[in-house]
Amino acid sequence: HDPDIGEQFSYSQLRVRLAGPHQLQPKPEADDLQFGKLFTDHMFKVAYHKRLGGWQVPEIMPLENLVLHPAAKVLHYAVELFEGMKAFRGVDGRIRLFRPEMNMARMNASAQRSGLPTFEPEEFVKCISRLVSIDQEWVPHTESASLYIRPTLIGIEPTLGVASSESALLYTILSPVGGYFAGNSGTSTGVSLLADPQYTRSWPGGVGDRKMGSNYAPTIHVQKEASKQGFQQVLWLYGDDHQLTEVGTMNIFVLLINDRGERELVTPPLNGLILPGIVRHSILNLAREWNQVKVTERKITMAEVKKLVYENRVLEMFGAGTACVVSPIERIFYMNENLLIPTMENSDAVWRTMRNTLLDIQYGRVKHPWAIEI
Ligand code: PMP
Repeated sequence: HDPDIGEQFSYSQLRVRLAGPHQLQPKPEADDLQFGKLFTDHMFKVAYHKRLGGWQVPEIMPLENLVLHPAAKVLHYAVELFEGMKAFRGVDGRIRLFRPEMNMARMNASAQRSGLPTFEPEEFVKCISRLVSIDQEWVPHTESASLYIRPTLIGIEPTLGVASSESALLYTILSPVGGYFAGNSGTSTGVSLLADPQYTRSWPGGVGDRKMGSNYAPTIHVQKEASKQGFQQVLWLYGDDHQLTEVGTMNIFVLLINDRGERELVTPPLNGLILPGIVRHSILNLAREWNQVKVTERKITMAEVKKLVYENRVLEMFGAGTACVVSPIERIFYMNENLLIPTMENSDAVWRTMRNTLLDIQYGRVKHPWAIEI
């Protein structure tokens, strides 16, 4: 084991304390689920204490409040990171996770950048699978909803120094979810975006490619500003040339006609400014295998998008992420101008193919190695 981290925790050590019948919450109707408002009956928790040799005994228990010292580092320096993944009830009744090893790898990368201990990915996936299986009746019995999984890691050492936290808490809570956007399951109409270059969410040398809570707090005001102006999401730009980076909490894709007259699916590269999304990665995998369009990871600027929109060469734009899979984009407001994107006008659109292929895998309509039965 890594002497810096000490003992790892393993699934074989897991202790399970089940909720009593009086503690069980009623399950909600699948149609009125709002994102992240309800939680299941149990949670997973494992503490880390360097002075006690590393990771402690992992436990599943009834969902409970955390007790933290007011000096806990998470409360002062935002020593926090998280993941977002889902469990799906397939058409065959079996429950599956989608590429969970990728979430684990990303979580360990975030932990490393936060000075927090890393863990054994397979052991944590097994613990999460057990938690989901204990709360399996909370995985909605429909293909329009799923169970959102929120693994979280916080630094809890009760000292005020800006230094690596020698105590940490890794926990996981579960929340049944429907469509991500209120009143819009994401596919009957496209979303509208505010692209305001006065804001940015990441920069070179920063942590835009890590899933740390501190990346998200400063976005809330900007999202509110977008909503106030009548837009659903923020299109995050970076640099003097207004590079597209991400949309809300999704990666972005543009399907365009390139200078050689080819259909090209473009997405910004993993240059440290964007989160390495698992849906992004999967769409790149599928599109390359599919081989119907050219697929490129490259820088794309608003000047290019604007020019191509004027020339009717932008065919589709969409966001990609765990929360809503693929979300078509219809309009971008940029420098006092509305750019209309014809994403919804094509019935055999690439975004729809990608979305349906991913949903088929997630809900077990096709067998695929990315879907892992719990
Ligand atoms: N970008 C950001 C900023 C995000 O928060 C997310 C959600 N994790 C994504 C992209 C999409 O990543 P994934 O496909 O892994 O959900």
